[in-house]
Amino acid sequence: MTESAPFPVHPARPSWRLTVVGAVDVTPRLRRVSFVGDLGGLQHRPGQDLALNLPGPQGATHRRHYTIRRFDRTEERLDVDFVLHAVSPATNWARGAALGDEITAHGPRGRTTVSGPADWRLFTGDETALPGIAAMIESLPAGERAFAFVEVAGPEDEQPIETAADLAMVWLHRGAPPRPASPLLIGALAAFRLPPGVGQACVIGETATVRAQRQGLVARGFPKERIAAEGYWRPGRIGGHDHIVEPDMLLARARRRAH
Ligand SMILES: Cc1cc2nc3c(=O)[nH]c(=O)nc-3n(C[C@H](O)[C@H](O)[C@H](O)COP(=O)(O)OP(=O)(O)OC[C@H]3O[C@@H](n4cnc5c(N)ncnc54)[C@H](O)[C@@H]3O)c2cc1C
Repeated sequence: MTESAPFPVHPARPSWRLTVVGAVDVTPRLRRVSFVGDLGGLQHRPGQDLALNLPGPQGATHRRHYTIRRFDRTEERLDVDFVLHAVSPATNWARGAALGDEITAHGPRGRTTVSGPADWRLFTGDETALPGIAAMIESLPAGERAFAFVEVAGPEDEQPIETAADLAMVWLHRGAPPRPASPLLIGALAAFRLPPGVGQACVIGETATVRAQRQGLVARGFPKERIAAEGYWRPGRIGGHDHIVEPDMLLARARRRAH
């Protein structure tokens, strides 16, 4: 059995003032907002995110996690891809983002990154996971072997991913709004024959889908410690994220904190 636990707040994370310098629709349901700032000191690993403080009507501020899709250190510029899933604070902000708009951000944070040597790497997720999956795959050097399963609404939501790695990319088209515990993604991963050798898996996206996929991998003998799993959204949850952990891991964490 797995459980979701709120990720601890880290007030010490660096804060950044970001100014919008561009906004384009990359695909019909994905808007890329480009920011500049005093970002010379930003250190991140592909796949990590920032907590963005997005202004809303009547002075409200909405804190939402978004992956750093691309960071150009020379230009001190970064891109964030927003899924336009509904009428919601983050999508409203992204739709209306205009040159010169300013926000603050905290981070980077996150353990869903390419880590440690591996014979092959596995990436799965939906469109909210695509910015992170693309960033991680693009960072892989030649000679790495990667497999990716990404669920989107339709072919118009696919994006080219450029990488030196040997990538087997599978796009899954659900043809409908996303739903929890996606049978498409869960089924695709269940049918995937795990290659021999040491693997590393990054399993991200809708929480129930992530949990089921992680459980499926563990049931097939995939080592838990080689899976980075995080719930990026779930129906009814406002912002935040779900760290997919098991009771024994929760216990170990509580013991560490007690000492
Ligand atoms: C580490 C991390 C990285 C992330 N990176 C990205 C990213 O790069 N790009 C990206 O688009 N998202 C990303 N997300 C997901 C994003 O933070 C959430 O989707 C967030 O809830 C969006 O805020 P909102 O204001 O649009 O909706 P909220 O106000 O948070 O939620 C409103 C309603 O919409 C539902 N909802 C939220 N997101 C979705 C969705 N995608 N599809 C369907 N229903 C949804 C909620 O469950 C809720 O019922 C990331 C999340 C995490 C934790």
